[in-house]
Amino acid sequence: MALINLEVGPGDTVLVQSLTFSASANPIKYLGAEPVFIDSERDTWNLDPELVIEAIEDLTAKDKKPKAIIAVDLYGMPAKWAELQSIATEFDIPIIEDSAEAAGSTFMGKKCGSFGRMAVVSFNGNKIITTGGGGALLSNDWNLVNHARFLSTQAKDNAPHYQHSYVGYNYRMSNITAGIGIGQLDCLPERVLQRRHNFDLYFRELNEVEGISFLLEPYGFYSNRWLTTLMIDPAQTGGINREHVRLALESENIESRPVWKPLHMQPVFKDCLFYGNGVSEDVFRYGLCLPSGSCMTEDEVKRVAFLVKKVIKQQKFQYNTDILQEN
Ligand SMILES: *Cc1c(COP(=O)(O)O)cnc(C)c1O
Repeated sequence: MALINLEVGPGDTVLVQSLTFSASANPIKYLGAEPVFIDSERDTWNLDPELVIEAIEDLTAKDKKPKAIIAVDLYGMPAKWAELQSIATEFDIPIIEDSAEAAGSTFMGKKCGSFGRMAVVSFNGNKIITTGGGGALLSNDWNLVNHARFLSTQAKDNAPHYQHSYVGYNYRMSNITAGIGIGQLDCLPERVLQRRHNFDLYFRELNEVEGISFLLEPYGFYSNRWLTTLMIDPAQTGGINREHVRLALESENIESRPVWKPLHMQPVFKDCLFYGNGVSEDVFRYGLCLPSGSCMTEDEVKRVAFLVKKVIKQQKFQYNTDILQEN
């Protein structure tokens, strides 16, 4: 809906973060436009402002000036909004903020979901609040909101009979779902505190372990810590990498997952342009998402942390060291 509102169509290019879930980029393809993937910076794992400028200048010189930029607040960490907003203004390209993972996060005291020309939040079952499925489009621009609302509810013109001037969609949220969502909104502040508490516990238990590092909040950044992620550098753990840790947890019936595989590495997007700096590939190679549910008890978090420490201390796993290459 956000891309349609900006009249993105066949032949257009749209810049999008590479280190994200595929749903950030799929809608560009639905409209016949071309995603151009941009790498991340190391402080927040989100769009690297310098690469965004490089891509805009390069594409503009080739007469393919991007029609929009999709920026993500990954794992709840706000993107570098001060820099990104000034780029949007300077080059006159609107930003769509993918805040699917960042409900309740803030940058300089302002909520995520309020930085783009439009933003999206998700209420999918795995997010910090949920309606079972669905999401919302947010904007301060009432014309954009009204047009999206019209198109997403079958685009019925104002007439007593069924009259249509646009191709419509059935993207609305049902009233039942919306009722659940209103209840969930009340829980959001508490959920954020629960997720941040998980992060603090993991940090306290694991930050001293050589080879483990966490993504910290730069000044003014407040993350909902939707998922706690960490990086494991095998050069400092005697060869233990994130796959060793993941499989060791799995053998204890604990699910953890590698960080998002960058979209420029995905078979479905292999022909797309990519402006890279190595960060998203590093994060994917070394990064692991730990169990982070809002109802985890302190004992559960500590048990996971204990097992992570144990694998790294023991260093006696016999896994094939090529294990990472298989992804
Ligand atoms: C979950 C997610 C989406 C998709 O949201 P749905 O409501 O499941 O369609 C989009 N972008 C990111 C970054 C996500 O994590």
